[in-house]
Amino acid sequence: MDQAAALYIVPTPIGNLADISSRAIEVLNQVSLIACEDTRHSGKLLSHFGIETRKTALHDHNERDRAQWIIQKLSNGEAVALISDAGTPLISDPGYHLVKQVREAGFNVVPLPGPCAAITALSASGLPSDRFSFEGFLPSKEKGRIDKLLALKEDPRTLIFYESPHRIVHSLESIVATLGADREIVMAREVTKTFETFLSGAAADVLQQVKDDLNQQKGEIVLMCHGHRTDSESDIPAVVVNTLKLLCQELPLKKASALAGEIHGIKKNALYKYGLEIGL
Ligand code: SAM
Repeated sequence: MDQAAALYIVPTPIGNLADISSRAIEVLNQVSLIACEDTRHSGKLLSHFGIETRKTALHDHNERDRAQWIIQKLSNGEAVALISDAGTPLISDPGYHLVKQVREAGFNVVPLPGPCAAITALSASGLPSDRFSFEGFLPSKEKGRIDKLLALKEDPRTLIFYESPHRIVHSLESIVATLGADREIVMAREVTKTFETFLSGAAADVLQQVKDDLNQQKGEIVLMCHGHRTDSESDIPAVVVNTLKLLCQELPLKKASALAGEIHGIKKNALYKYGLEIGL
């Protein structure tokens, strides 16, 4: 059965091909056209799943013009899917102008849930996930990067950035310089792929590990920073927080606070109070 005329937003895997949903395959098979960020790149994925639907390119440079052409297809009663190179379209990928114009023209836009590097990385980061801010890529020039990070310095939410491997050291250096050497961060690399790695700890320590190990400067990266802590929290260095969290995996909070306090020479009551605040 053909899909009803609409624009379908279809996420694709971020590394592991098994992460495509059966609904995504069904929709991609049944629409009459798939708008791809890069037809050659997506061609490989589509042929892996035996999908022979016609493709068209929709990228940052032709999106506005292409949108009108796609709207014409929708008015002919056709169903169209949008995919990007990987993950969820529109999330640091093309599609915003298309979706806006299709909605304005009065057609349905149907989203399918699926892979997204930011959400997948956050879910395993151990950072607070109740409130977060997705910030896309940090600016490539140092001044822009520093300005952006300074504007986010007091934000209490977990911050999520996409990062490219050749800029990771510069971005970590900027984070240390603006958010502080002690800011707790998590670097998720090659998520869902063979060399999936999570590095976590104080920003300065993660920076050192990345500098020392060139493998950490390869592949695809999501960088996450703990949000700005309140006064009582910010007294506790990230290294102590890590010890407390580790001990809490085996011990009740009270005992873990006493031990972590003894190891790091910090008052156990402050750690206990902090542990309660973050739900340990
Ligand atoms: N739309 C995609 C999504 O839903 O995640 C993101 C597209 S954006 C152009 C590409 C960036 O996403 C990469 O530079 C990297 O920061 C992040 N990314 C994509 N796949 C990843 C993976 N498997 N592991 C870690 N980060 C990934």
